Amino acid sequence: MKVLFFHRNSESLGIEYLSAALKKAGHQTELMFDPGSGDVEYKFKTLDRFFDVSRKMVERAKVYAPDLIAFSCITNLYPWASKMSALLKEALPYTPIIVGGLHPTILPDFVISNPNIDMICLGEGEEAIVELANSIDKGIVDYSIGNIWFKKERKVIKNHLRPLIQELDNLAFPDKDLFRKYGCFSSRVYVMTGRGCPYMCTYCFNSYYRRQFSLKDSHYVRRRSVENVVEELKVFKDKYKLKEVFFYDDIFTIDAEWIKNFCSSYKQKIGLPFKVLVHPQAVKKEIMAMLVDAGCIYVDMGIESGSEELRRRLLKRYMTNDDIINAGATLKEVGIKFCTLNIVGFPGETREEMLKTYELNKVLRPNGAIVSIFYPFPQTELADYSLKNGYLDSADYQKVCSGQGTGYKESSLLKNIEIKEALHLQIIIPICVRMPLFFKPLLEKIPVNAFTRIVSIFFLSIPRNTYIRVKESITMFFKSQLVYALCQK
Ligand code: SF4
Repeated sequence: MKVLFFHRNSESLGIEYLSAALKKAGHQTELMFDPGSGDVEYKFKTLDRFFDVSRKMVERAKVYAPDLIAFSCITNLYPWASKMSALLKEALPYTPIIVGGLHPTILPDFVISNPNIDMICLGEGEEAIVELANSIDKGIVDYSIGNIWFKKERKVIKNHLRPLIQELDNLAFPDKDLFRKYGCFSSRVYVMTGRGCPYMCTYCFNSYYRRQFSLKDSHYVRRRSVENVVEELKVFKDKYKLKEVFFYDDIFTIDAEWIKNFCSSYKQKIGLPFKVLVHPQAVKKEIMAMLVDAGCIYVDMGIESGSEELRRRLLKRYMTNDDIINAGATLKEVGIKFCTLNIVGFPGETREEMLKTYELNKVLRPNGAIVSIFYPFPQTELADYSLKNGYLDSADYQKVCSGQGTGYKESSLLKNIEIKEALHLQIIIPICVRMPLFFKPLLEKIPVNAFTRIVSIFFLSIPRNTYIRVKESITMFFKSQLVYALCQK
């Protein structure tokens, strides 16, 4: 049978894994992709109006005539998924629509109440979607498939949660061809060597997932074998003429023994430059030295806040500032460039606390710094804290649940936040940490406006990384438009 995925704005590893599982089971898959003019982050709404491809995607969907339509949806993609589901329901009223991914997993009752969505998939979907496709193919829908909630005769059937997939090596390699034709990546691929994170930060979905899915006899943090990862990379390296790899694991540097085996095999068989994500407490000199030797050229490191007290009290991040400074020094010593990930505007965060984030970055002198405004993602501990302590009212929490307010123009949904200071730091931190100290007094006076915001984007990350991202976004935008233009004829 034919499954048609819809996605927007960037490549989705989740969809690539689902598509690979379906193809392995003998089904056909296709993707309708909306480049979205980068709007999830920057909201270029004018561009979006001119280059809106929604209607073209629906027309192409009608020609493809799928047996099942599927979305994989994070919170800020939900407004778009909801809009597309309505258009698709009108055009293809008899084709069932399923939505999986993070958002329906954390808010299943909310998402299933959408009149245009027929089913949702909670948690990991590879096994569930194959069972669903098999049953639709046979003409008798099985309404008891684990992880899937169905609408049937005005009732919702809520099936049990499956344990997390423990043997990740059994999964088919992600189907990257789906996104390749839309120009979503060129010479760099995103790869995951495992699933799950050992930490419990209060603003992150991982703590909720861990509570939901860590069942007896199953592990939350899982990793593929080194052989399996390297085999996948060999395939992609030949197929896509790769120049670089981005390992997208939440924290790459856990498990020293695994890293040791990985580095020796990767260096010998792949040998491409790569990037990983690290946690300051998982930056150990021996491990980082092995990674450099294998080709690691840069890392992203979450520091989030420069206030030790705030990190401990609100975020459950228990490292000291010295730990973070030592991690930065280790990275410099072994020769890895790094970009810090920061958040400002936490519930109740004072101006002085925000400035500590700036101060810590000034000490670290990273090669790039990304600063986000805190967003209370649904079902996280920090969203609950914001609600209970009057930083978020229930009307605004409803906005959060429907995925609104994740763009910068919305500022912050929280009350009593020094939002002006947060927006100012969002611009000056990336610029100031990269400029000579001499310019700082001048740069700190930069005003907040559309121009300075665009300028700061070019300072966000390491120059090479920024260059690749901008190049990929432009290619993705024009290639996708071309795909729809050619199909119209
Ligand atoms: S370390 Fe990162 S991925 Fe892990 S729980 Fe914290 S924020 Fe989430």
